[in-house]
Amino acid sequence: MTGRVAVVGGGILGLAVARRIGLVRPGTTVTVFEKESDIAQHQTGRNSGVVHAGLYYKPGSLKATLTRRGVGLLREYTAERGIRYEECGKVVVAVDDGELEPLAEIERRARANGVPGVRMLDADGLRAIEPHARGVAALHSPTTAIVDYPAAARALRGDILDAGGAVRTGAEVVGIDERPDGVHLLVRVRGTAAAPTNGHGPAPAQDDGQIEVTEPIGPFDLLVACAGLQSDLVAELTGEDPSPRIVPFRGDYWLLRPERRELVRGLIYPVPDPRYPFLGIHLTKRIDGEILVGPNAVLATAREGYGPAVLRTAELRQTLSWPGFHKMARQHWRTGAKEVLRSASRRAFVAEARRYVPELTAADVVRGPAGVRAQAVARDGSLVDDFVLAVRGRVVHVRNAPSPAATASLAIAEHIVAQIVTESAA
Ligand SMILES: Cc1cc2nc3c(=O)[nH]c(=O)nc-3n(C[C@H](O)[C@H](O)[C@H](O)COP(=O)(O)OP(=O)(O)OC[C@H]3O[C@@H](n4cnc5c(N)ncnc54)[C@H](O)[C@@H]3O)c2cc1C
Repeated sequence: MTGRVAVVGGGILGLAVARRIGLVRPGTTVTVFEKESDIAQHQTGRNSGVVHAGLYYKPGSLKATLTRRGVGLLREYTAERGIRYEECGKVVVAVDDGELEPLAEIERRARANGVPGVRMLDADGLRAIEPHARGVAALHSPTTAIVDYPAAARALRGDILDAGGAVRTGAEVVGIDERPDGVHLLVRVRGTAAAPTNGHGPAPAQDDGQIEVTEPIGPFDLLVACAGLQSDLVAELTGEDPSPRIVPFRGDYWLLRPERRELVRGLIYPVPDPRYPFLGIHLTKRIDGEILVGPNAVLATAREGYGPAVLRTAELRQTLSWPGFHKMARQHWRTGAKEVLRSASRRAFVAEARRYVPELTAADVVRGPAGVRAQAVARDGSLVDDFVLAVRGRVVHVRNAPSPAATASLAIAEHIVAQIVTESAA
């Protein structure tokens, strides 16, 4: 792996992979292509900001191993780079006896995954750590932390540039062609008048004054695609199977009013429903001091649609026509309907968090941000739980990197570069 490497996606994963290649293979020219006008505009900049300690994940899975490794790497990296990181700790609260066994299973997994310092609390122990939380028991993870992921992404970009690489924003990869001499890309470039015309004559300006041209770029010796919400579509550009399809799940957040922030010291989570990869509506202290309440999980009407009003018909049609979506919907429609209700009603949303913080009322919150999760759904309707990487020839696709992939990003990058890129080049 020397020569030229292209990375699709300027989220935390693409940036971490590009940085890692620059570190371990000096002399390689790495270019990151990001379709937006800046990095970290999608999942990386719209998540809960939690550094997960590795409580929930099946021992031995990529999620478990790369999250544990990722926590250490991220803590070290943020300390070196002066990025805010706070070990505020987390409690997972069982509100009734029925949740005790699932909570015990989380404790077993946490211990098997080597999460340090976890301990089971009774109701008084919980109150000592989170005075406003109520439950019959809780699992305390003192090393679960919060961090500024967009700041980490900016630092990674700085490292890539320092190593001689490039991060091209406003550059959408729309074609990928693997030929004997390497991987050739077609890149749609948006920008101001300075956008390259590549010998095709001046490009006409769009309504917004931007210029758009399609540039052939390459060849590259290797391509790593970390396209998040678009990862299945980018994989299809190289003839990969559409399965697993990305089904976008929007998560809405509310924010605690400043005068009610004393209700939460760190991170208060429910016992998650083991049928889903989502963790349930939680109360999360953010690194800027805000307290998030959320996220729920509703089908998004656009892959990058951050409100119920954002509708992209073609994208929605594509999601709805996926056979795996039908099977999933048939199985989980009741949960889906409840999530839609929570999305529409502040009262219903807050009621979920009141189960473990009873003092919370609908008047305590104001509308907050939203994010959309890239959740891979297989053709048989199953929600793909573990991280999924696909390697063929000179191309690596990250096909499923949902939460906690921001936590694990530096370890996922290390894994891709060590295990996959090196092997594929051998
Ligand atoms: C609501 C929510 C809460 C979450 N909470 C947490 C949490 O607390 N902790 C945690 O660890 N994880 C959390 N996650 C998950 C985490 O945010 C993601 O796993 C992680 O950000 C994935 O990074 P990424 O780089 O793969 O994706 P993204 O950040 O989505 O980046 C993908 C990038 O690829 C670009 N792109 C796509 N297609 C193209 C193309 N054709 N050409 C060029 N560019 C392209 C996109 O514009 C985008 O910038 C959460 C996610 C959500 C949505």
